[in-house]
Amino acid sequence: MSRLILLILLFLLLYTILRYLMKKMLIQRKTLSEPEELVQDPHCQTYIPKRTAVRKKIAGSVLYFCNQECLKNYLKRDNSDR
Ligand SMILES: [Zn+2]
Repeated sequence: MSRLILLILLFLLLYTILRYLMKKMLIQRKTLSEPEELVQDPHCQTYIPKRTAVRKKIAGSVLYFCNQECLKNYLKRDNSDR
């Protein structure tokens, strides 16, 4: 009976390790196929990955912000300047 539990535990352990390795390989392949491109937030000057940035087309050119708050603040500042 205890041997069966041991076998199940061993199987679970193997399964977990396999899943972990598969995940790691998938992440590696993903980063290899699309390199992380950094863009600068015009409001707080921070560099952020283009993939996660908040995109906004302003005056014909696309700007990237780190979050919605920066976008809002940038628009506010831009309007008050004029
Ligand atoms: Zn920002």
